Amino acid sequence: MTVSQALLDRATEHLGDDPSAAADLAQQVLQQADVAAESSLAGCAWHVLGMAEYTRGRLPQGAAALRQATELLGRHGPSLAECRAWRDLGSALTHLSGDVPAGVQALQRSLALADGDAHERGVVLSRLGPALGRLGRLDEAESALHGAILHLDAGRDRRALVLALDNLGFTHIQQGRYEQALVPLRRALDLLEAAPHERLHLANAETNLAIALAGVGRGDDAQALLRAVGGRLDPATDGYQWADHRLACGRVHLLCGQPAAARIALHEGLAFARDHGLSSAEIDLLLLLSEADEGCGDLAAALAHQRDLRAAERRWLDQEAASRARQLETSIELAERRAENQALARARDELEARVAERTEDLRLQVQERESAEALARFWADHDWLTRLPNRRLLQVKLREGLNRSLRDGAAVGVLFIDMDGFKSVNDSHGHLSGDRLLRLTARRLLRRCPPGATVTRYGGDEFVVVLPSLAEEVVAATLAHRLCQAVMQPLRLNGRRVSLSCSIGVAIGPRDALTPDELVRCADRAMLVAKASGRNQVCQLDAGGQERLDRRGRLRRELGQAIAGGRLTAAFQPVWNLRERRLAGVELLARWNDPELGAVSPAEFIALAEESGLIGPLGLWAVQQGARAAAALRGAGGPGACRDLRVAVNLSTLQLADPDLVHTLSNAVQAAGGEPSWLEFELTESVQLAEDPAMRDRLVALRAAGFHLSLDDFGAGYSSFAYLSEHYFDRLKIDRALVHAAARMPERAPVTRSIVAMAHGLGLTVVAEGIETREQLALLQLQGCDAVQGWHIARPMPLDDLLAWAGPPSAPTPSD
Ligand code: C2E
Ligand code: CA
Ligand code: CA
Repeated sequence: MTVSQALLDRATEHLGDDPSAAADLAQQVLQQADVAAESSLAGCAWHVLGMAEYTRGRLPQGAAALRQATELLGRHGPSLAECRAWRDLGSALTHLSGDVPAGVQALQRSLALADGDAHERGVVLSRLGPALGRLGRLDEAESALHGAILHLDAGRDRRALVLALDNLGFTHIQQGRYEQALVPLRRALDLLEAAPHERLHLANAETNLAIALAGVGRGDDAQALLRAVGGRLDPATDGYQWADHRLACGRVHLLCGQPAAARIALHEGLAFARDHGLSSAEIDLLLLLSEADEGCGDLAAALAHQRDLRAAERRWLDQEAASRARQLETSIELAERRAENQALARARDELEARVAERTEDLRLQVQERESAEALARFWADHDWLTRLPNRRLLQVKLREGLNRSLRDGAAVGVLFIDMDGFKSVNDSHGHLSGDRLLRLTARRLLRRCPPGATVTRYGGDEFVVVLPSLAEEVVAATLAHRLCQAVMQPLRLNGRRVSLSCSIGVAIGPRDALTPDELVRCADRAMLVAKASGRNQVCQLDAGGQERLDRRGRLRRELGQAIAGGRLTAAFQPVWNLRERRLAGVELLARWNDPELGAVSPAEFIALAEESGLIGPLGLWAVQQGARAAAALRGAGGPGACRDLRVAVNLSTLQLADPDLVHTLSNAVQAAGGEPSWLEFELTESVQLAEDPAMRDRLVALRAAGFHLSLDDFGAGYSSFAYLSEHYFDRLKIDRALVHAAARMPERAPVTRSIVAMAHGLGLTVVAEGIETREQLALLQLQGCDAVQGWHIARPMPLDDLLAWAGPPSAPTPSD
């Protein structure tokens, strides 16, 4: 559209100087324009083409094109463009062959369309005037031209004004009012003086002025003026003006009373007009020739010729109109086809765009899926908390390492790292802090490990490091020690300094194991040994360590069955009352004699029971045994010395965590035929007991239920006097290490002495444990101990042996 419009603008510019170029450009526009959709553009193009043809002297072609223009422009309702098309069509028809009535009609139509536009009306009126004049309607012509001059006088369109003035002058000439004609003609010439390049307009005005001059009797001036005009015209290019000039010469000669000269001029003009197809000039010339006394025959011939010409021109016009209509139809058809093709192309483009869009969508989807898959792949083998590889990836790395070691003989090191006491961090600082600690630890491990090593999170507070292609096996242990150091470094959690150690087990593949699972298990076992040996250690299993671990695993499995199957036995160790020199009570000690494993030490299986949660059932069993023993000792069959003795049963601190403990134990005692007051629970001091009020509440509840309590192993490890004063306990048992030390080293004796004094101060009776020698017994007796227990008095023994040992009528006096 813009390209076409630009072409059309260029065509309009060329109308004045190069009508052929203008016609070509207008044709181009018409070929490109979509006539159906762009009928107003096409209408303008037809208009330009018509004017170009008209200017080139191809009047019928010009008229036909202009008619086409009015037809197309008329489709859009009244417009200036339509107004101008009718105007130019009117001019063309008027000049064409004297089909003046049609021309007048066209101009009147144009005038109606010009309506309120003064300038446009002026221009139209300036053309309507001469047309009316040619029909002999000279008065109407005159008033039209006056109107034109009136409208145009105010405007700047000098050329139109000149034309109107010129035509008014000519109208007056036709009216025979030569004097009157001089006025507008002179004014026209005045205006043209400022525009010497308006050569043809000047020629027209001067020609008319010459006629008017001749009319007022100034024949010489007229002829001189005509000569001057004729000298400036070139018949080759100014055909119409030349014919018109001959006509004017004829007229001037006639006015000057020179018919012969007039006839010569008119015949010249006639020949010229016929040669050049200037039909309207030809008719004018014929008409004047008949006037110039050529006789009526000439006039009749002139009129007949005029009719023939008109008929021929009408036929031509009709044919032209038909061919134009056909052209229009074809161009509409073409345009429609073009529109169809364009629609098809648009549909294709749209389809292509949609396909491209869809392809892009799919690409994005694939990309999204791929990144989601990549993410999923990442999290499939990484740990969410530390972002370290997880067990899955560990397996892969181990398998790779082991395969490589089978090829090149280099060893694979595996470090199994377990944080010591991580649970306490979680409990006291919260899980978020626990998570932070794990992340920090992961970072520390990563930083200390050599390139090529894989640090993985195995689970909870466990990490596993894989060291492929070890040059020397010792490298693994060395790194393990370094990692231990690194992990130990204090860090801040919730504003508090925390330092957590770790235990590391080392295994070497393929020496220790051939498969990934077995290798990790091996390192895990080594780690357990490191833990068992006091934590914050690195351990690598030798054959013996391996065996110990295997035994431990087996014990763990067997213990549960031993408790449930009644395969545990109870041993009883007497507690001797030093003041009253009699049996004060007995301590029940669990014994496990397995036919295959042999005698398992309580130190071993009690720890195992605490780790595996079997301490509850074991404790219940012990209470039942204790109650039964107390009943036996106190009962009718029991030794007289035992009537009021208590059976001490060891109670693990872990049992105190059970909210149902008091209830369960009371029931068990009752079921075994005993009473709570016959039993005394021995408890060791511990951090938990010191820090957990719920556990201490349970102590109170046990006492309230009738049980006695004693504080066991006092002085070993964690010691707090804080809750001694709170009267949970009846008795305090001094740990055998303190007893041994006091007896061995005089400087340590005050320790036990002050413990005795303090306990007495708090209303507690004191038992010294682990009395193995007479000296120890003497010392502790001297220091004021109430009772003693130890191999020097009696070893733990079965109930039957104890009954015999304590047997009636009275017990022996071991201390003697
Ligand atoms: P404990 O409560 O301190 O028990 C006393 C331990 O010292 C017993 O070891 C006993 O055999 C030993 N012993 C007694 N006199 C002497 C002596 O003169 N010299 C030496 N060196 N040792 C002596 P045992 O039977 O091996 O028990 C070890 C620990 O196992 C006990 O220490 C106790 O804490 C725990 N235990 C035993 N039976 C049970 C039980 O039924 N329940 C719970 N929770 N713990 C138990
Ligand atoms: Ca004990
Ligand atoms: Ca003890």
